[in-house]
Amino acid sequence: MLSLPVYLDNNATTPCDPRVVEAMMPYFTQRFGNAASRNHVFGWQAEEAVNYAREQVAKLIGSEPKEIVFTSGATEADNLALKGVFGTYASKGNLPAGQAGHIITCNIEHRAVLDPCHHLEKQGAEVTYLKVKTDGLVDLDELEAAFKPTTILVAIMYANNEIGTIMPIKEISAIAKKKRVRVFTDATQAIGKIPVDVNKDDIDLMAFSAHKMYGPKGAGALYVRRRDPRVKLTAQMDGGGHEKGMRSGTLNVPGIVGFGKACEISLDEMQQDAMRTKRLRDKLENALLNIGGTSVNGGKQHRLPHVSNLSFKSAESESLMMEFSQDIAVSSGSACMSASLEPSYVLKALGLSDEMTGSSLRFSLGRYTTEEEIDYVIDIITNAVNKLRKTTAHIEP
Ligand SMILES: *Cc1c(COP(=O)(O)O)cnc(C)c1O
Repeated sequence: MLSLPVYLDNNATTPCDPRVVEAMMPYFTQRFGNAASRNHVFGWQAEEAVNYAREQVAKLIGSEPKEIVFTSGATEADNLALKGVFGTYASKGNLPAGQAGHIITCNIEHRAVLDPCHHLEKQGAEVTYLKVKTDGLVDLDELEAAFKPTTILVAIMYANNEIGTIMPIKEISAIAKKKRVRVFTDATQAIGKIPVDVNKDDIDLMAFSAHKMYGPKGAGALYVRRRDPRVKLTAQMDGGGHEKGMRSGTLNVPGIVGFGKACEISLDEMQQDAMRTKRLRDKLENALLNIGGTSVNGGKQHRLPHVSNLSFKSAESESLMMEFSQDIAVSSGSACMSASLEPSYVLKALGLSDEMTGSSLRFSLGRYTTEEEIDYVIDIITNAVNKLRKTTAHIEP
């Protein structure tokens, strides 16, 4: 039997895979040591577990284990990348006197990238926010034209959390490398869902998070390239010199063990998960497009397999959600924005009208989404949209 509500908000967070929880359990009770304790077996066990997890994480993204810096999640990794690069490369005489470091990013980045950029602007940084096209992708010519002699970093997300579009990261890094500028990508929504390889894509810094890929909350990582080129970061957390001095603080051993396990499972099952969710996503999307007055937000061509962001003309999303909030968990706009009821800046950046932005829903499927659930959701949403359009007595042209 179907258990309600149906969870289609996997881009906000995913449930922990039971195999992940099982791997974590011993590290709360028997193997509770501090990975930095060098004098006894408790510490050694914890350190060994962290090293193993570091290998599991590195393998998923094609990096060296040494290049993984564990953090509390992607928000912290984003802050460390942006502020850490700015701290190292914009304030140590690398720039002509009196000139500010310049960062190129885009206007549909997650808040965890945009807010640190705003913070750095107050510290004197210059930031270019590239506008995306209606398909949600940055224009490569505009990117190329944005470079200045003072550019120290390109920060473009791998895949967008609201619309699921996948940026041309490989092409973006090729342009940046030509200009000898470092590339940072927030890959939180891509890792574990589609193949990402830091060497094939020529990425220098990459943020991601366990709880978006069936691991626990409170664990994440920043990949930091160590050769060709070696990236140096200014730590944002001092005290103890953990993680090669880049992120001090006692490691979250159970969380890191779970993160490692989640990466191992994703590597094995990514392809089959993607094929399955894509089929179900397409079934859902096509059925909802059949209602009429429905449109897909963002380009469909370069898109994560499990995400669909739709606008339902003349059916306001908050009223829609009230119709089925007991039965289906989806989001309107991004999770963090929903609280404020502000129209999504991502959808507005695509050029959507306020009306279409206000009538959008994001469906994000996951490893545990079933066909039965999708059939149910199609039914409920179709009825809700039709009902709402009737009761608001909106007359279609
Ligand atoms: C969820 C998310 C974040 C924040 O990750 P946390 O681990 O929750 O801090 C950052 N960027 C993107 C694209 C996300 O989807």
